[in-house]
Amino acid sequence: MDPQFAIARGPTPRVLVADADAETRSLYRQTLHAAGCDVLEAADGRDALAKALSRPPSLVVTEALLPFIDGYALCALLRHDSGTRAVPILMVTAETRPIELARARAAGANVVLVKPAATGLLLNEMRRLLTQTNELRGRSRAIREQVAAQLKKAADLIERSAAHQRSLARRHERYATRTPPFRPPQLVCPVCEVPLHYEQSHIGGVSSHQTEQWDRFSCTALCGTFEYRHRTRKLRKST
Ligand SMILES: [Zn+2]
Repeated sequence: MDPQFAIARGPTPRVLVADADAETRSLYRQTLHAAGCDVLEAADGRDALAKALSRPPSLVVTEALLPFIDGYALCALLRHDSGTRAVPILMVTAETRPIELARARAAGANVVLVKPAATGLLLNEMRRLLTQTNELRGRSRAIREQVAAQLKKAADLIERSAAHQRSLARRHERYATRTPPFRPPQLVCPVCEVPLHYEQSHIGGVSSHQTEQWDRFSCTALCGTFEYRHRTRKLRKST
C-alpha cells in the first residue's frame, strides 16, 4: 500500500462502490485497494442497498444513475435505516445542473462530485469522509470511557460509604471487656450490703461519639447480678 494514498488509520475501511459500469468499478477497486480499503461492489441500486443494509460499510460511493434503484433513492433509503444513517455517501454524477446537485444533497449525499472527477479529488473526498467518521467514533469512545469511569467512581463511593456504615454499626454494638475505659467502682450489694464482685463491663452507645459504659457486678451472697451505668451513676438489678 502506498502511504501517500493511505485513506484512514485504524481498522481497514470498507467501501461500497455502486456503479453499473464494470470498468468504472474496476478503476475504483484498484484505487481503493491501493489506498488500503476493502471494496464491495454493486452493479445496481438494489444490490447496493442489500449489501449496505446487511453490513454497513465505512463509506458508500455511488453513481447517480443506477438500474432498479437510482443513486438518489439509494441515498434516501440508507438515510432512513438506523444501521446506515451515519454512513457517509459520496455521489458521482454526470449532471452539472445545480438543481440536480441540490437534489443529491437533499437525498442524503455528503459529497457530490461531477464526472469525470480526477482520482486525486475523489480520494481526497473519500479520505475526508472516512476521517470524519473515525473522529466521531473516537469521540464517542472517549465519551463512553468517561461515563464508565464516572460510574465506577460512583460505585466505589457507594461501596466505601456502605463499608463506613458497616464499621459504624459494628462500633456502636456493645462489646464486653474486663479492661474498660473507666475503672469500675467499689460497690456494696443494695440488698445485703456485702461488697459486690466485679465481673465485666459493657461498652456501647447510640453513636461512636457517645459511648457508654455499664459495669456488671454480682453479689457473693447470691442476691443476684447488678449493673452500674457510668453516665447516670446508678446501680440497677439486672434481669
Ligand atoms: Zn447481696
